[in-house]
Amino acid sequence: MMLAEDRARKGAKLELPRDGRAILDARAKARQRLHDSIPAGYRPWMHLAGTVGVGVVGLGLAVWGVRAPRASELLAVPATFLLANLFEWRVHRGVLHHRQKLLEPLYDRHTPEHHMVFGYDDMAIRSPKELKLVLIPALGVAGIVATTTPLAYGLSKLFGANVGWLFLATAAVYAVGYELSHLSYHLPEDSFVGRLSLVRVLREQHRRHHHPRLMQRWNFNVTLPIGDWLHRTQVPGDVLEQTLAQDRITRRTA
Ligand SMILES: [Zn+2]
Ligand SMILES: [Zn+2]
Repeated sequence: MMLAEDRARKGAKLELPRDGRAILDARAKARQRLHDSIPAGYRPWMHLAGTVGVGVVGLGLAVWGVRAPRASELLAVPATFLLANLFEWRVHRGVLHHRQKLLEPLYDRHTPEHHMVFGYDDMAIRSPKELKLVLIPALGVAGIVATTTPLAYGLSKLFGANVGWLFLATAAVYAVGYELSHLSYHLPEDSFVGRLSLVRVLREQHRRHHHPRLMQRWNFNVTLPIGDWLHRTQVPGDVLEQTLAQDRITRRTA
């Protein structure tokens, strides 16, 4: 017989229960199941060093390649930043929250796992091992490299080598920024990083996305909410209030 958690992994949609107590039970079970599935040899700091390291190597290569850029070439930096922000929004909404052929592992890692374990009221990792549930998986890193490298090459052919290198440098900084900002939201709120004002503001954006009733529709940017602003997907105050009010009613009647 297929377990509820397996059905959640295999189904077209995440089957998160909507009732408060059932959600807590499902979260606890999912957390335990995922803990048990993490190999004993998993090294959280190596995972972090690997994802950040790929970005740092890309940045180093790109900075090494740039030669006395003109002001017009430097426009590649803000243009890439905006493109990366819209890419982040698109991939999070389209790939991480909806199953796509060949990209199912990314969906599985995000919606039935990351969202199942971390909720609006329970965002923090409880041990370094849980970095496995937060950091970009190897397939995600491979996807970013496979997307940015040919684009950088194409831009260098179209607009000159400097534009290609500046694109690569900005994309690398952006990817590292994504990884570290997302991690910072899932660190304990009373940790040194968790107490930083910028982290508190951005964590609130992401925390709202972690509410099971809001996650399929609102707050898809993890870094700065530019894509959410352009696509009007920042959760409105009244929607958030109604959702939280419904939670309070559910908790009272549970
Ligand atoms: Zn998250
Ligand atoms: Zn999400």
